[in-house]
Amino acid sequence: MLTRMSQQKRVPALVVSGFLGSGKTTLVRHLLADAQRRGRRAAVVSNEFGELGIDGALLNRAGEDYVELSGGCVCCRLSDELVETLQMLRERADPDLVIIETSGVALPFDVQLNFWREPISEWIETDVVVVVVDAEQLAEGRDLDGTFAQQVSSADLLLLNKLDRVAAQALPDLEAALRKIEPDAPLIGAIHAQVDPALLFPPDPGGVRERRRSEPIDIQPHHHEEFITEEFSVAEGTEPEALLERVRALAPLRAKGFVVTSEGPRILQGVGPRIELSKLDFAPPAELLGRVVVIRRGDS
Ligand SMILES: [Zn+2]
Repeated sequence: MLTRMSQQKRVPALVVSGFLGSGKTTLVRHLLADAQRRGRRAAVVSNEFGELGIDGALLNRAGEDYVELSGGCVCCRLSDELVETLQMLRERADPDLVIIETSGVALPFDVQLNFWREPISEWIETDVVVVVVDAEQLAEGRDLDGTFAQQVSSADLLLLNKLDRVAAQALPDLEAALRKIEPDAPLIGAIHAQVDPALLFPPDPGGVRERRRSEPIDIQPHHHEEFITEEFSVAEGTEPEALLERVRALAPLRAKGFVVTSEGPRILQGVGPRIELSKLDFAPPAELLGRVVVIRRGDS
């Protein structure tokens, strides 16, 4: 039951955005662990692009404070559902923080607009878009137009992730490349999306975040680049090398799934040309085993 005080409580909202495979789910995992350590309740809305529920399994979430929205982007098709879901989470879970993990193809500004809509605008205290950037993708110059640039330009905060995968001397160039797209947002470097959660809500001395909330909302329909999601099954006992070859041949932007190889249960993660199998530190739901989702650019 909600107390009067919690009904008046205003809570911060974080949109976790970033291109396919940049490390969004890893960041959300850290934030949830941190919230738990500090006794704070975080509610999560996850908008996965491939509709399997892999992110939910990775977050080990199925409780009253987790909702997965699928079948479209929360930036357009599911924007009303997002507002309804956040209001429902407020009433059901009374969170101290809400996190929206957008799909890798969603546009964060159009997600953010929803926080300024009734009734959730009454209890959302402030909202920040953090855009996670894969330093390796940036260094290799892969897929930096279109969606990537739109996401970076909407950031309140940039998290340059996977710094362990690029040479230290490349950093000034990477920063300059981001600054061309987004000159102002604070930039934080990270490995495995490890960041001090206190940094995620930077001060707003000019009141920019506060002001934009009260400006009239002008929702324009937008166009997405075309991405295609495909799922394929992987027989139990498949040789790891054969599986990696098979995924590489599809040249995906992103691949992920839980499989059982001849060496045991693994998570398959692919980001551009980097396709890896790793051991699991938990048992994924049985219905997800042997299914891999691949995201590619649509032919247009
Ligand atoms: Zn959209």
